[in-house]
Amino acid sequence: MDMKVGIIGSGIGALASAIELRKLGLTVEVFEANSVIGGKIVEQLLGGYRFDMGPSVFTEPHLVQKLLQSLDPTQDFKFHRLEESCRYFFNDGVKLIIPVGKENVAQVISDTLHEEPSQTKHYLNRMEANYKAIYPVFIEVSLHRFRQLFSKHLWKAIARLFKYGLHQSMNKQNQSFFKNPKTVQIFDRMATYNGSSPYLAPAMLNIISQLEFNEGPAMPIGGMVQITRRAHQLAAQHGVRFHTNERVTAIQYRNNRIVGLHTENGTYNFDVIVSNMDIHYTYEKLLPYLKAPRFLLQQEKSSSAVVFYWGVNRTFNELGVHNIFFAADYKAEFKAIFETKTLHPDPTVYIHISSKVEKTDAPNGKENWFVMVNAPINVGQDWDLEIQLLRKQILKKLSKALQIDIEPLIEIEQINEPRLIDERYSGKQGSIYGNASNNAFAAFLRHPNFSKQIKGLYFAGVTVHPGGGIPLAINSAKIVARCVKEDYGL
Ligand SMILES: Cc1cc2nc3c(=O)[nH]c(=O)nc-3n(C[C@H](O)[C@H](O)[C@H](O)COP(=O)(O)OP(=O)(O)OC[C@H]3O[C@@H](n4cnc5c(N)ncnc54)[C@H](O)[C@@H]3O)c2cc1C
Repeated sequence: MDMKVGIIGSGIGALASAIELRKLGLTVEVFEANSVIGGKIVEQLLGGYRFDMGPSVFTEPHLVQKLLQSLDPTQDFKFHRLEESCRYFFNDGVKLIIPVGKENVAQVISDTLHEEPSQTKHYLNRMEANYKAIYPVFIEVSLHRFRQLFSKHLWKAIARLFKYGLHQSMNKQNQSFFKNPKTVQIFDRMATYNGSSPYLAPAMLNIISQLEFNEGPAMPIGGMVQITRRAHQLAAQHGVRFHTNERVTAIQYRNNRIVGLHTENGTYNFDVIVSNMDIHYTYEKLLPYLKAPRFLLQQEKSSSAVVFYWGVNRTFNELGVHNIFFAADYKAEFKAIFETKTLHPDPTVYIHISSKVEKTDAPNGKENWFVMVNAPINVGQDWDLEIQLLRKQILKKLSKALQIDIEPLIEIEQINEPRLIDERYSGKQGSIYGNASNNAFAAFLRHPNFSKQIKGLYFAGVTVHPGGGIPLAINSAKIVARCVKEDYGL
C-alpha cells in the first residue's frame, strides 16, 4: 500500500516514529519548525566549549541501538557506561559518590548514611522486580487498546500495584524503607526525571531507580546529540524526507479522516499524521475546531527548568559527570515549583559536565558546566528578575560547597528558561514533559498515542503515553507504529 505519513516535529519521538514507519514501507516526511533536527536533543558550540542543550541523563541505551539496527543491522551506537550514577552534596557538608550496581550502592549508602546494606539491596531488588512487571504493561503498549493491554503481564502488574502500594507517593514508600532523610531524598529525586514531585507522584515511579542505580546511566560517544543525529542520518539514508524551518500550521481532515497538513510554505497530502508537537498545542494550534479531551489536557503540567551553560576556566576533581547539590528543604522546593510557582531560594542544583568523559567538549584544563534548576512553568513570573536572583543563589551555594568563588571562573555563559523552552520547542508554558505525574492515576491520564476522533492521526513524544524521558519517547513511537499496523492491516 502506498501510504504517506507526515510527521510534525523532529524530537526523538518523531525520529523514532519515522524509522518505525519507514520500516513498514511507508513514505515518510518530517516537518520541523526550527532550523535543526532533533527537538530538545541538540548541541551548541560556544567559544571552544560544546554543550548538549537539553537531556543529559541517558538510560536504556539499548533502545537507541535497537532502533537504529532495526533499519540497518550494521549500525553500532557507541556509548560510555558510567561507573558512577551521580555525586550528591548536602548543605551540611555530607557528600556521596553513588556508584552503579546494588552491592556498591548499598555499601556507599551504609558507609555514609548508615542504612543497613541489606535494606538498600532489598529496595533495589524490589524496584527491579517492579520495573520488570510494569514495563511490558505500562510502557511498551497502548493503555488505550484492549488487544495490546490484555496480556499475561497485565494481571502480574496489577497484583504488584496493590501488593506493594504503588499508588502511595514515592516519598511515602521511600520513607518506609529508609531511616535517614538524606537517603530518602536521594531516591525521591527520581520524580524529577519526569518533571514531577516525589510527594505527589505514585510509588510506581520509583522503578526509575532500576535504571539510575542498578543499571546506571550511559553517555553517547560524541554527546547526547548523537542520539538524534544518528537517527536523523539513518532515516534520511532510508528515504525519509526532512523539511526544516517549516512550521506546521494546521492538520487537515475530512469526514473524520486525515487528508494532510498545512505549513508556512504550503499544503501537503498525507494519509497519516504523527504529531510530536506538545499535545496541548497540537489541539490548540493545529486542531482548533476539534473537540479536545479537556480533562486530560487540564492536568497539572510537569516542571520546567532554568539552565545556565557555563564555560568554566578550571577543572574540579570533586565533580563527576552528574552532580547534585541538594536543597535543605526538599518538600518546600517542590511546593514552590508546583504550588506557588516560584523559584525556591535554596534550590537543588544539578551540574552535568560531559567534558569529564568527552574531553573535546571543553578546552584543555577547563570544563563545560550545564547547571540546571527545576523551575515552575511560565505563568507570567518576572523571569528576568527571578533568573538574576537565581544566578546569585546558585553561585553562593556552589562557591560555599566547592570552597572557591565560582563567578570569576565563568568565561562563557548562555541561559535557557521556561519562556524559551515554550518558544523554541513548543513546550506548553515551558513544561518539559507535558502533564506531571502528580497523582496516583497519572499513568492513565496521559493522552493516547492515537486519536479517537480522526482516523490516521497519531501522537508520539514525551507529552503523551507512556511519558517523559528519551526511553519513553522511543516507546511512544513503537506504540504508534503498532497502532498504524493494526489500523491499516499492514
Ligand atoms: C533542559 C532539559 C533537560 C532535560 N533532561 C532530560 C534528561 O536528562 N533525560 C531525558 O530522558 N530527558 C530529558 N529532557 C526531556 C527531553 O528533552 C525529552 O525526553 C525528549 O528529548 C523529548 O522528545 P520529544 O520527542 O517529546 O520531542 P521534543 O524534543 O520536545 O521535540 C519536539 C519538536 O517539535 C517541533 N515542533 C513543535 N511544533 C511544531 C510545529 N507546529 N511544526 C513543526 N515542528 C514543530 C519543535 O520545534 C521540536 O523540535 C530534558 C529536557 C530539557 C528541556
